[in-house]
Amino acid sequence: MPTEKQKRDRYFIKTYGCQMNINDSNKMIEILESRGYQPSEIGKAHIIIINSCTVRQNAENKAFWYAKSVQHYKKNKPYIKIVFCGCVAEDKKDEIQKLLPHVDLFIPPNNPGKIEEVLEGGNRRMRVEGRGGVTAFVNIMTGCDNFCSYCIVPYVRGREKSRRPEEILAEIRALPTNVKEITLLGQNVNSYKYGFAALLRKIKGVERIRFLTSHPKDMSDDIIEAVAKLPNVCEHIHLPIQHGDDDILKAMNRKYTVDDFKRTVEKIRNKIPGVAITSDMIIGFPGETEKQFENCVRTARELSFDSIITTIFSPRPKTTAAKMDNQVPEKTKKERLQKIMKVVDEIALSINEKLVGTTQEILVEDFMNSEYMGRTRTNKIVKFKSAKSGLRGKLLNVTIKSARSFILKGDL
Ligand code: SF4
Repeated sequence: MPTEKQKRDRYFIKTYGCQMNINDSNKMIEILESRGYQPSEIGKAHIIIINSCTVRQNAENKAFWYAKSVQHYKKNKPYIKIVFCGCVAEDKKDEIQKLLPHVDLFIPPNNPGKIEEVLEGGNRRMRVEGRGGVTAFVNIMTGCDNFCSYCIVPYVRGREKSRRPEEILAEIRALPTNVKEITLLGQNVNSYKYGFAALLRKIKGVERIRFLTSHPKDMSDDIIEAVAKLPNVCEHIHLPIQHGDDDILKAMNRKYTVDDFKRTVEKIRNKIPGVAITSDMIIGFPGETEKQFENCVRTARELSFDSIITTIFSPRPKTTAAKMDNQVPEKTKKERLQKIMKVVDEIALSINEKLVGTTQEILVEDFMNSEYMGRTRTNKIVKFKSAKSGLRGKLLNVTIKSARSFILKGDL
């Protein structure tokens, strides 16, 4: 019979925010599973982990209230450990530690190894090789030096630090064999200290390589060339423009103009046939006039992105933009967001409709609700039905039968 201590081997993890946070969570999961812990629903967990995000106020509030709400699990089971990690744990350390006294451990971002401090049970079995996933994230750098005026990342994740290529390549070689696709992660991979294009050229033995995120000012010809030439690098570039008006871009401290951005997009499209370009836009930045918003909509149309993640500006503490006194009223921000989302949807749909009838190579990632789900090299989600089992992890050709703005359906 296992002892009470040995039975304490279940964890539950809730992650808010970006791929960097997902990656930190994955690392913690890896550590937990290598110690014999298993995932469970929250009510049965012995370790509850909340990985928070502070990029927007809404995300920060959600993580905080979630962490507050889990304290009742400790009433009957005082041995449960609650862990609060991520950007909020760093940004509001002193305040949050007072507000969440039931939390046992606070972990700042980029430090998933600290989870070891709460591990006590588990059956200490050998390291579990992989978690069945066919895709994996690989961090190549942390932090950011850019100080965009709206962004809290440099304050909570610190200055830019690049990992050495040998270390990254060793991590990639050690990935389980079922991993077919990797995504190289960093706040600005284009400024990777040891040369991002050179790193791409050194990666071998992986079917597909993606990367996130790119700063337009650092998207060099060499990187574009590497994406164009290397067969395992996917034809998808996420290039956040953030706004379509030069004065707003200046106030955002983005260090490029709309024309600079257009030239970069033109180069990418000329060099990489069939490439998908996706972007981010922030609506309602302080001082944004109706005309500047219209410039943003026009730019979105002109650049015809495959998709754009549009978000409302959210003032973050410590940032320059939060201190600007010309904040746009919430109501106006919401109305503008609705308008631009409609345009973004129309563009995405018209691009996706052109794929109907074509055959796309997809990597099958999952099987849910009687359908397989995979992604094209251009990162479009494709769903298809098949009576065959075991297709997860396979690269297959699927003929696209119908399209919506964010999803394609097809047949094997
Ligand atoms: S590039 Fe700008 S938006 Fe991106 S993480 Fe750095 S400061 Fe934030």
